[in-house]
Amino acid sequence: MQFDVFTLLPEVFPPYLESSILSRARQRGLIDVRVHNIRDYTHDRHHVTDDTPYGGGGGMVMKPEPVFEAVESILGPAAIPVILLTPQGRVFTQRVAEEFARVEHIALLCGRYEGVDERIREHLVTDEISVGDYVLTGGELPALMIVDAVSRLIPGVLGDPTGAEDDSHSMGLLEYPHYTRPPEFRGWKVPDVLLSGDHAKIDKWRREQALTRTFKKRPDMLDKAKLDKKDLKFIENLKSKDSSS
Ligand code: SAM
Repeated sequence: MQFDVFTLLPEVFPPYLESSILSRARQRGLIDVRVHNIRDYTHDRHHVTDDTPYGGGGGMVMKPEPVFEAVESILGPAAIPVILLTPQGRVFTQRVAEEFARVEHIALLCGRYEGVDERIREHLVTDEISVGDYVLTGGELPALMIVDAVSRLIPGVLGDPTGAEDDSHSMGLLEYPHYTRPPEFRGWKVPDVLLSGDHAKIDKWRREQALTRTFKKRPDMLDKAKLDKKDLKFIENLKSKDSSS
């Protein structure tokens, strides 16, 4: 999968992209992340990429010319998603990460200052994504979040091929708790079932833990989760315990 990232701060990307799983995925050719400096597409002596807003008010706005030139000269006529990072976009979720992972190539446009000239949004961008209801200083962290969340869905990127399946949000539930050695730490023991070697029991325990956690922490998710009869019965029990306590 290829990601083309357009930014005024290309230097923030290498430290993250050259670490751990993403670095290995790039070395193995599973993902290709190309970071382009929008400033390289200016033609004036001072390489100006922003200007004051028409109508007055504080802050600066990213100019359209270098952004259009950068995106058009790199992508050419390819009809790929051009995603603007903006707090005004649709919210990035695991479903959206899955949607992007089905595409072979996406472009991510990082804003700075007050954001981009509206003509970029209207005539260059095909999608707008927000990473949450808060405002950051730039789109670089959101772009890295998207590259990260999408990459780990690409087959082969995670060491364990089933690694992403049980993750929180993948199946519409929060994931069950994890434990590792030692079996006892400061008197706190790992649940016996996990040491039992009985995989049917372990699967049942994990499912019930995932349902319980989701019920307690994110009950809103249960409406959309894929639940079978046993799950529904288990949740009914949780509800009746909850209302009697
Ligand atoms: N004035 C803009 C507004 O109110 O919608 C906010 C601009 S913000 C200071 C600068 C840039 O950071 C944005 O253009 C966008 O690229 C990025 N950004 C900030 N918060 C974001 C979020 N929650 N999701 C995605 N991108 C964000």
